[in-house]
Amino acid sequence: MYPAKFDYVAPSSLDEALRLLSESGGEAKLIAGGHSLLPMMKLRLAQPATLIDIRKIPGLNEIRVDAGGLTIGALVTQAQIASSPEVARALPMLSEAAEKVGDLQVRNKGTIGGSLAHSDPAGDLPAVFLAADGEVIARGASGERTIRATDFFVDILTTALEENEILTQIRFPALAPRTGTAYAKFDHPASHYALTGVAAAVTVGDGGSIHQARVAVTGVGVKAYRAEGVEQALTGRGGDALQAAAERAADGVDCNDDIHASAEYRAHLARVFTRRALATALERAQA
Ligand SMILES: Cc1cc2nc3c(=O)[nH]c(=O)nc-3n(C[C@H](O)[C@H](O)[C@H](O)COP(=O)(O)OP(=O)(O)OC[C@H]3O[C@@H](n4cnc5c(N)ncnc54)[C@H](O)[C@@H]3O)c2cc1C
Repeated sequence: MYPAKFDYVAPSSLDEALRLLSESGGEAKLIAGGHSLLPMMKLRLAQPATLIDIRKIPGLNEIRVDAGGLTIGALVTQAQIASSPEVARALPMLSEAAEKVGDLQVRNKGTIGGSLAHSDPAGDLPAVFLAADGEVIARGASGERTIRATDFFVDILTTALEENEILTQIRFPALAPRTGTAYAKFDHPASHYALTGVAAAVTVGDGGSIHQARVAVTGVGVKAYRAEGVEQALTGRGGDALQAAAERAADGVDCNDDIHASAEYRAHLARVFTRRALATALERAQA
């Protein structure tokens, strides 16, 4: 199917993009890599009157690591993340998730900003963003604000971003010493979207027990979520607690049930891949 007719503009500054966005009265949409928006437009699930292409805006395409952590511009592509040695060192689960997104063509176009702003229930990067306890910087007409990962994903395809805001940066805090991270995914064989994807960050304490665990699951519910039951079951425990803790990966979640997988199967996958992600993260924390 062809998309409905639309106008196209490509502003060269953030201020210009924000002006165009607020003048559109809600009828415009930002486009970055276009690999989520264009399929929706072709299916006529989205019919924006104007596309505001943000790819010419300077300053949104950098990866930076400092003592505070990792900062990634909204326009950095999944391929850039997957191939960045800085990202691999600072946050291995982000490299692993980015390299598992779709295929090379998708990764060459898809951006981290678009991946988070779209809040696809089967997207990979939302799970990593949650498990890393990251935050985004959003720019609107009245200035900048920070939104924490735990407040960001609201519902299916819905985030805490306002209609007239542009996501400019994603920040991931530096990992505490003796922290291991991992991303484990069971993907759809055709699209490679996550039927289940689990991001885990595990910090071990001096005695070798788990001091803190953050676990986030995608592909299972309407949006990516933190598996708090799993996290609680691991705190203060050793590696022998992984199996029982992972059993809680889909607790309280209304699991998606569609032609790709039943709700019951998704819950099962969530438990299995939570155990695998945790086992790898713990091993790395102990190395
Ligand atoms: C065949 C195929 C397979 C795929 N497989 C996977 C997969 O395995 N895993 C996965 O995670 N994803 C997958 N995707 C989705 C892909 O990763 C998308 O590129 C990504 O989800 C969206 O990024 P984008 O830059 O393309 O965003 P776009 O499509 O340009 O935009 C998506 C949405 O985000 C908004 N947006 C974009 N940038 C910003 C910004 N800076 N600030 C505010 N709003 C913004 C847009 O207005 C739009 O509503 C697949 C896509 C295809 C076509």
